[in-house]
Amino acid sequence: MLDYDLHCHSNVSDGTLTPTELVTRAAGREVKVLALTDHDAVSGLTEAAQVAAQYSIEFINGVEISVTWRKHTLHIVGLHIDPENPALAEGLRTIRSGRRHRAELMAESLARCGIGGVLEGALRYASNPDMIGRTHFARYMVEAGHCKDVRSVFNRYLVNGKPGYVPHDWTNLQDAISWIRASGGIAVLAHPGRYTAGRKAMGKTTLVELLKEFVELGGQGIEVVSGSHTPPQYAEFARYAKEFNLLSSCGSDFHGPEESYRDLGRLPDFPLECIPVWTSWEGKAV
Ligand code: AMP
Ligand code: MN
Ligand code: MN
Ligand code: MN
Repeated sequence: MLDYDLHCHSNVSDGTLTPTELVTRAAGREVKVLALTDHDAVSGLTEAAQVAAQYSIEFINGVEISVTWRKHTLHIVGLHIDPENPALAEGLRTIRSGRRHRAELMAESLARCGIGGVLEGALRYASNPDMIGRTHFARYMVEAGHCKDVRSVFNRYLVNGKPGYVPHDWTNLQDAISWIRASGGIAVLAHPGRYTAGRKAMGKTTLVELLKEFVELGGQGIEVVSGSHTPPQYAEFARYAKEFNLLSSCGSDFHGPEESYRDLGRLPDFPLECIPVWTSWEGKAV
């Protein structure tokens, strides 16, 4: 079992726990090395690091950047970033500024289907109004009785092809990787098993093209063990890691006790051929 968890969310983005609650939970689940990777935001890192120190958890500054590549939305995790780096901070600010406008368009689109008041409702769930996202809409729509749980709201309303889905141009892959690297971080392709085109999984040819480009642009890691992956996918992405000479990362992608596939930590071991991403920083002064 791995006592590293390098991908999780607080209420700074779309998790439900505060950074303090999140780290406290991680400590209770024997996580030894934790990265907080909120979407497009780094404002939870200081608080999380302070609490981690109290529990002797090694804390890693992280972020999960939203990227548009071809027609796909991808997530790139940055590990060991410097949150104060001006290029990174400015880049993340630009991404966040697009979220409000997208939320307005989502609300208009849902209103046309007879579902009103969702922007105001969703904002109540967003501790950080400029981080408003689909998860906040989903939580409100459960509260308002449109669906029984968050997952069903996504499936019925918020995924590509459904009435509340609004295509959005996030940042490009090159910029996301270069901001992470400029800030001293390691760029990791998050949950590659989750990418889709519409409702179809990203084909192998496209995935290989993506991995080639990712490496050319300076990407160094790939999530092999993820809360979003099945065990056969651990093996599949371990093979890609080897083929593309990428370091392997692991993370629960925990968002909250009620909504996540996996709780924090206690992730299964990597397949044998993997080189853990932490070999790039352990033993070095960071
Ligand atoms: P956004 O960045 O606002 O488009 O929201 C993306 C977030 O929505 C992801 O990080 C997940 O937390 C969540 N999400 C995406 N797809 C689903 C799904 N099918 N079911 C539940 N949550 C999802
Ligand atoms: Mn999320
Ligand atoms: Mn993600
Ligand atoms: Mn995530």
